[in-house]
Amino acid sequence: MKESRGFAVGEQALTSFDRQFSMRCRVQRPDRYRLLDALPADAPRIARGSGVSYVAASFGVDAITQDMAAFDRLLAFDGERGLLRVEAGARIGDVERFALAHGWYLPVAPGHPAATIGGCIAADVHGKNPARDGTFRAQVAALELWRDGSGVTVSPDHGSDLFADTCAGFGLTGTIVSATLRLARAPAILVVRRIPVESLAEAAQVLRDALNVPLLYGWHDGRPGAFGRGVIRIGLDTGDAAALPPSRLPDLPIAIAPSRIPTWNRLGIALANGVIRRRWCRPGQSAVTLADTLFPLNAAKPYFAGFGRAGLVEAQWLVPHTRFVAFAAGLEETVARLRPRISLISSKLFAGEPDGLAFDGHGIALALHLPAPADGAQRAFLDALTELALAHGGRPNLIKDSTLDAATVRRALPGFEAVRERLRRWDPDGHVRSELTRRIGL
Ligand SMILES: Cc1cc2nc3c(=O)[nH]c(=O)nc-3n(C[C@H](O)[C@H](O)[C@H](O)COP(=O)(O)OP(=O)(O)OC[C@H]3O[C@@H](n4cnc5c(N)ncnc54)[C@H](O)[C@@H]3O)c2cc1C
Repeated sequence: MKESRGFAVGEQALTSFDRQFSMRCRVQRPDRYRLLDALPADAPRIARGSGVSYVAASFGVDAITQDMAAFDRLLAFDGERGLLRVEAGARIGDVERFALAHGWYLPVAPGHPAATIGGCIAADVHGKNPARDGTFRAQVAALELWRDGSGVTVSPDHGSDLFADTCAGFGLTGTIVSATLRLARAPAILVVRRIPVESLAEAAQVLRDALNVPLLYGWHDGRPGAFGRGVIRIGLDTGDAAALPPSRLPDLPIAIAPSRIPTWNRLGIALANGVIRRRWCRPGQSAVTLADTLFPLNAAKPYFAGFGRAGLVEAQWLVPHTRFVAFAAGLEETVARLRPRISLISSKLFAGEPDGLAFDGHGIALALHLPAPADGAQRAFLDALTELALAHGGRPNLIKDSTLDAATVRRALPGFEAVRERLRRWDPDGHVRSELTRRIGL
């Protein structure tokens, strides 16, 4: 650990959640506002929340990582209006725990409870039903950014350019230090209905028919022969609102130690799909507390450990409704031909307008998990998936897919160059950078 000008920079090996990129990095851990400015003005830097992005978005190249973990306080709560002001390093699991105990919740929460509020804004994440709730920006009333030695507060109505560019800005507009979040009244109990589906086309129809519910997503088998078979989970609000005990949100750890022997070979995938099908794909419904539905991956530690040291690739594409059936048919044909190992496919409905680099739009999103290494059949399949998705007007999720390169991103997002220029206005000297911004040429 090196001390200079009142700040300490240590060295640490950082690894992306998908394990596709790791490097030794210089890390600063500011614990007060003045230390946010302690780095030399021309030092390359990038803010970091918990680092639970699948891709390397909070470290890389020669940037000093500014770890915001110490900025994790809940600052103010208006229990009448459901407004909560928090520091940017606060974790979404802790925010939900606090809100639920007071009868409120944040409808848009990603699956990992350690994701921070700063990370959720900078990646403009989605939750359990983006078609109803939008992306994370929809619940941010205001945010405070640290730029050039002072704080600036922006909101959708005040400083709206900077607000919009910060959402899905991947840290380029400055360091988010706090945000005021708009909470929603928490339904205490959800009835979760399970609708089995035989194909992705059928799944799309079930998702579209459900639309306005608090929870809506599907799980699907990715194996040839059983491709697309699965279940749609639809959470219905019983109208019963109450404060919930705060102890109902166990944490998925930030760093999951990989198994020494990876589980997700063909046999492991077949066994897991069989178990899931028997347990979760029968038609019916059950009453579940909202707390249990917010972080369904809490019990998924063995699942992620099972990818072993090589990790996984998550490819997520949002395909317009009009193209989805043809896309799904092409995907099934590609899987039958190339026979990749796919450990999981999930489906979600979106109904937003894509702004900047955000993962949003009108259509159905599919996320596919593939055990790495992404070479041989796995690589061939990922390349074919990319071409197929592009041919059907698909939009990629930049915070998840580490296989996307600059050329692909430009083909997928026709307005990319304009957005890049817009973002770089806030950092004209290019000091803010990460492995993600390097890889996609942002
Ligand atoms: C198991 C799992 C499930 C997930 N589920 C979902 C899901 O359902 N929906 C979804 O959309 N995503 C999901 N994600 C992705 C995850 O929510 C996002 O990648 C999120 O950004 C991670 O937050 P973080 O605090 O770890 O951010 P980091 O990984 O640390 O950083 C992400 C980006 O935010 C920037 N950033 C972080 N903090 C700040 C700050 N204070 N100021 C400025 N910029 C900042 C970083 O520079 C970087 O560009 C999931 C990830 C995992 C591993």
